[in-house]
Amino acid sequence: MLPRSYEVIIVGAGPAGSATALFLLHHRPDLAGRILLLERRRFPREKFCAGALGGRADRILGGIGVRVEVPSVPIDGLALSLPDGRVERSPGQIGRVIRRREFDHALAQAARERGAVLREGLGLTDFRVDSGGVEVTTGEASFRARALVGADGVGSTVRRKLGIPFGRLKASVVEVDTEPLPSDSPHHLLHFDVTDRAYQGYAWDFPTPLQGRLMVSRGVYLLSYDGSTVPGVADLLTRRLAHQGLQIQDYRVKRMAERGIELHRPVARPRILLVGEAAGIDPITGEGIAQAVQYGAVAGEYLARRIRADKLSFRDWRLRLAQSVLGRDLAFRRILAQGCYRWGRHPFERLFLDRPEALEFGAAIFAGTVRPWRKWATRLLPPDPILR
Ligand SMILES: Cc1cc2nc3c(=O)[nH]c(=O)nc-3n(C[C@H](O)[C@H](O)[C@H](O)COP(=O)(O)OP(=O)(O)OC[C@H]3O[C@@H](n4cnc5c(N)ncnc54)[C@H](O)[C@@H]3O)c2cc1C
Repeated sequence: MLPRSYEVIIVGAGPAGSATALFLLHHRPDLAGRILLLERRRFPREKFCAGALGGRADRILGGIGVRVEVPSVPIDGLALSLPDGRVERSPGQIGRVIRRREFDHALAQAARERGAVLREGLGLTDFRVDSGGVEVTTGEASFRARALVGADGVGSTVRRKLGIPFGRLKASVVEVDTEPLPSDSPHHLLHFDVTDRAYQGYAWDFPTPLQGRLMVSRGVYLLSYDGSTVPGVADLLTRRLAHQGLQIQDYRVKRMAERGIELHRPVARPRILLVGEAAGIDPITGEGIAQAVQYGAVAGEYLARRIRADKLSFRDWRLRLAQSVLGRDLAFRRILAQGCYRWGRHPFERLFLDRPEALEFGAAIFAGTVRPWRKWATRLLPPDPILR
């Protein structure tokens, strides 16, 4: 029989939820057994995703002694196909490609080993905030906690029930896993294809370690600015695959949506905060795994301090986020998405063709070896009075 009462309940054991548990336990090891990680599915579970994991995620997790050992393809650079040429840069290891079925399972186990109570096959259906805490209802049981974290992904029930709009930056994504082709980029590169100027997005070919074989994840990412699903995303992938000599009907087609961050929207309410894709991720590429880990690192430290101080209004969670490396990175990518997809790509295309080393900047952001806007942001945003 599980206890009913916890210090914190985290809804969703994807990378954002598990990382939040890990970092909270890192800062407050005394909370072992007092953090409930609720996951509505059972591990190992699939998550539609191309699995490109920015090196910063491993570095951040490594900082608290967590290493996620799963089959991976090491990545040491990026390739970019443009309408007028192709550029490629390999600055050294910048990340790896994992399968989410294995990665998420291993990360959730790490959280369990450090003291989180992981409950699988149990989804939050509702919650209610009262003066003493939060009452969480699932299909089978109800639980209480002093605080709740919504780490429940793109369609977040927590966000919806809080009445926080999902926002307008919605990407429609479709992918398949195929065998490699002779025309592919070398398998140590992530290949982005932006040759078609007709749409706001890109196509990708990433190596992927599938059941002991090196395969290739191929997909299309299309961003909408009005919250709608972009029609025709599967047709685009069909045409692209046909161009590569592949028939889409030979593969399992996986469709999903992604949500870009909109920093003007709330990401918390009293006793409840949102992390990971429930809060919003990068709108330009739809990168979200390393960001989910970063969310966990910031939220874990924030929660530890707020719980100790018994200040659970979470009124300044958005500010804390904006001040973090993650928040600055998201703000930078938000503007970049606007520039690339709305104001016109030509200046960006010229930049990459004339100065291919610009691609190394992108690779460094992915790896986490450079922090965009660090000086500017530090000047603009005063340090958080409580969190440093
Ligand atoms: C096709 C595709 C390709 C992508 N490729 C990449 C990539 O290559 N690299 C990259 O960095 N990002 C990629 N992303 C984005 C990335 O997958 C997400 O941003 C990332 O998974 C967000 O992590 P998260 O922990 O916030 O949410 P999730 O990974 O979605 O985890 C949420 C968890 O919450 C659980 N849950 C949901 N509702 C409830 C509930 N009510 N109660 C309990 N549990 C619940 C879910 O089962 C899930 O386990 C891709 C996305 C798509 C769709």
